Amino acid sequence: TELLAKPIEKIRTQMEDLQKADASISRIRELFATQSEIVDGPGALIPEGALSVEFRDVTFSYDGDQPTLKSLNFVLKPGEVLGLLGRTGSGKSTMARLLLRFYDPQSGVIALGGTDIRSAKLPDLRKRVALVTQNIEIMQGTIRDNLTFYDESISDEAIIEVLKELGLGAWYEAMPEGLDTNLASGGGSLSAGEAQLLAFARVFLTNPGLVIMDEASSRLDPLTEQRIEKAVSKLLTERSCIMIAHRLATVQRADHILILDSGHILESGKRASLAADPNSRFSQLLATGLVEVLV
Ligand code: ADP
Repeated sequence: TELLAKPIEKIRTQMEDLQKADASISRIRELFATQSEIVDGPGALIPEGALSVEFRDVTFSYDGDQPTLKSLNFVLKPGEVLGLLGRTGSGKSTMARLLLRFYDPQSGVIALGGTDIRSAKLPDLRKRVALVTQNIEIMQGTIRDNLTFYDESISDEAIIEVLKELGLGAWYEAMPEGLDTNLASGGGSLSAGEAQLLAFARVFLTNPGLVIMDEASSRLDPLTEQRIEKAVSKLLTERSCIMIAHRLATVQRADHILILDSGHILESGKRASLAADPNSRFSQLLATGLVEVLV
C-alpha cells in the first residue's frame, strides 16, 4: 500500500485540478450566457429612501434544470432588517445575486420599493442596492472612485470624514497620494476587516436604500470587530437590510428571520415570535449557539 500511496495522491490532486477547471469553465460559460440574457429595463424609477423588498413566487435555476430557489415568497417593509439563515449551499448568495440582477429568475417577480427590478435601468438598480461582503470589489481606480462610484457630488471632505468615523483614518493617512491613491495596486494590503470597513464607507457615501450584508465568518481582531459593530448599527437605522448572518449577535438585530433550506423557506417570521416559540427551528438554533449549524 505504501508503494501506491504516492501515485494515488497524485491522481487525486489531478482529479481535483480537473474538477476545478471544469467548474471555472462552466462558470465562465454561464457568465456569458447570463450577460446576454439580462436585458436592461426601460427606466422605471426605484423610489428614494429605505426600500421595501418583495419576492413573488421566485423560481431560479443556474442550469435551467435543477431549481436553486423554489417559489420563494417574502416581503420586507422599508427600514426592516431580515436575518437570512441557512446552511452553505441553501441559496442565500443566490438571492443576493438576483436582487442585483446578475441573473434573472425563470419565473416570479422581485420588486424594490414596489418597482419590478427588471423595469429599472441596471445602473440605477445597482446604485440603490449595495452588497457588503468581506471581499470588497475593488475596481481599477483611485480610492475616491472606489468609494463614490464616480459620483462627483460627493466631496473629499465627506469621504475623509466617513473614513475617520469608521476608524480608517490612520489607514487613509498612510496612503501615499491620499484619495488619489490607486486602490487596485495599493489595496492589496487590506486586511479582511479593513476591506469590509471600506465597503461600509462606500455604503455611507452612496446611500443605497437596501444593503445586503454578507458578514465575515472569519474572526476579526476585537478593535475591527467593534468598528464593524458600530458601522452596522448606523447602517441599519437608515435603510432596509438583508443580513446573511453568521453570528448570533448579528441575528439579534433582525426584525424578521428567514431560514432557507435547499432553496425553499424552511421557516420565516418575526424574530421575536420565533425566538419565543420553543418549537421553532430558530429557537433551536439559538439554543445551540451556532447559527451555521442547521438541522
Ligand atoms: P449559500 O449562499 O446559501 O451558501 P448559494 O446561493 O451560493 O448558497 O448556492 C446555492 C446552490 O446553487 C448551491 O447548490 C450551489 O452549488 C449552487 N450554485 C451557486 N452558484 C452557482 C453558479 N454560479 N453556478 C451553478 N450553481 C451555483
